[in-house]
Amino acid sequence: MTDIAPPHLAPLLMIPGPVEVSPEVLAAFSVPPPGHTAPALVEAFGASLESMRRVWSAEPASQPFVIGGGGTAAMDMAVANLVAAGDRVLVVKTGYFSDRLAEMLRRQGAATVEVAAAPGDAPDLEAVREALAGQPSGGRCTALFATHVDTSTGVRIDPEPLARLAREHGMLSVFDGVCATAGETFDMAGWDADVYLTGSQKALGLPPGLALMVASPRALAARAARRGPPPPMYLDWEVWQPVLRAYEERRAAYFSTPPTNLILALAAGLAAIEAEGVAPRIARHQQAARALRAAWRALGLEILPKRDELAANTLSAIRLPATASGAVTANDLVARISAHGVNVAGGLLHDLRNRYFRIGHMGWVIGRPDLLRRTVAAVAAALRDCGLALPAPGAASGDAERQALAALDDLPVRS
Ligand code: PMP
Repeated sequence: MTDIAPPHLAPLLMIPGPVEVSPEVLAAFSVPPPGHTAPALVEAFGASLESMRRVWSAEPASQPFVIGGGGTAAMDMAVANLVAAGDRVLVVKTGYFSDRLAEMLRRQGAATVEVAAAPGDAPDLEAVREALAGQPSGGRCTALFATHVDTSTGVRIDPEPLARLAREHGMLSVFDGVCATAGETFDMAGWDADVYLTGSQKALGLPPGLALMVASPRALAARAARRGPPPPMYLDWEVWQPVLRAYEERRAAYFSTPPTNLILALAAGLAAIEAEGVAPRIARHQQAARALRAAWRALGLEILPKRDELAANTLSAIRLPATASGAVTANDLVARISAHGVNVAGGLLHDLRNRYFRIGHMGWVIGRPDLLRRTVAAVAAALRDCGLALPAPGAASGDAERQALAALDDLPVRS
């Protein structure tokens, strides 16, 4: 393996989405755009929809949706189909993206019941139970919304008990998996969850531009029974369903032009995920995340999630070292990391914005320990540039970095 980065890896993109894509995905995407009726496109679209059910671990009667748009469009689609003005909806909040969900629900005219936690933490199940029990009679919540991994904090919730709690209360459960799907475990059928949504540019390992989700039969029935004016046409499940069914039957259909190159990339990306197996791929994400957390620790850095089991597989949200005076901000560090050839992201939470930074580790790069090492080395160099590097006085210079890099030694290569 060479140390010289191909042009598309310089700088190396290690923000929490979009992410570097695999050579196969890049090749599938980089062709003259096919028409939406081209046989190769019809096959790629049909196969992708079938594959989504399996990757989401969803039941056969569930419906996958794929539209042009980002994760936000997927969130809007779920809200528009399942929530009507006057509904009461529970939101489990773990950061900036669950705040966005709550704002969307309010815009839809819903009354939100919001259960939040301090930055880096997640509400416990008891708090959610109590919030449900505290609703006035006649004010039953119809749905529970939560963010599987909130990219602003790097906090991962456990969706399973929330999905089960929603079932016990006759509520739908909707999970934003934008920074999680295919990098974190999600058993849609096993947990009886109703919607799991994502965007293409994260752990699925594709370029940005697709909004994806799978809806359970119960969610589809709730759309059919929904009161009030229908959802905006572009977001309406009922408009898309016949089109998507046609593609699964390998017939072209039209409602709005799909981003055809992205559909080709989707088919290639999902095929690679299935060839490896969803569970082994998620296990690799977990292993890479653990190794990187050990590397950050070796460099003297702490992560924002308060406990290890809350830390996502897909990104690290890392605090500035306690030794950093007010004079050094996370943005300074991000700029220095970038000067060492690796793009990472600043903080998103308003209150902590300049006190932490974020590094994505999902999709293809986790099978390239050389690129993860480059990232760790760039962070170590930036810490040195900013006068924040370990070791403590007396220790040999470079020890911390050597230890941090050694934490990645056992990661398997898969390129
Ligand atoms: N939800 C989560 C958890 C996200 O991480 C993001 C994107 N960072 C979004 C929603 C919004 O996705 P997009 O930027 O593609 O609209």
